[in-house]
Amino acid sequence: MAEHIPVPVPDGDSRVFWEGVAQGKLLIQRCDACQQFIFYPRFLCPHCFSDSLAWVEAQGTGTIYSYTVVHRAFGPFADQAPYVVAIVELAEGVRMMTRITGSEQDAVRIGAPVRVVFVEADEGVTLPYFQLN
Ligand SMILES: [Zn+2]
Repeated sequence: MAEHIPVPVPDGDSRVFWEGVAQGKLLIQRCDACQQFIFYPRFLCPHCFSDSLAWVEAQGTGTIYSYTVVHRAFGPFADQAPYVVAIVELAEGVRMMTRITGSEQDAVRIGAPVRVVFVEADEGVTLPYFQLN
């Protein structure tokens, strides 16, 4: 019997983000007061503590800030190894933990340009991954 991966549980701050992912959009927040982009989703701006935050669609491009190759995984991820877990810095300057997908994983390097892709990681679970650009 195939195991299922842990499913993201949207909460009050992240619900809009996951609704965007379901529609193929990568949404991040921007502070109305100081104009800084924000990720992960929050209630207050971490830069100026304003609670006036707006959702905007990110360009969906960025670069690999850091990464690791997972060769041994457990549970529902065991069959997926090896895979690349990365922190991607978006064009907007915020960083998100994600996976690098695609067939060119040997070419993954820090600083490599990447683009978001929306992957159905499990039944009914779509996640924003990235692939080399
Ligand atoms: Zn702010």
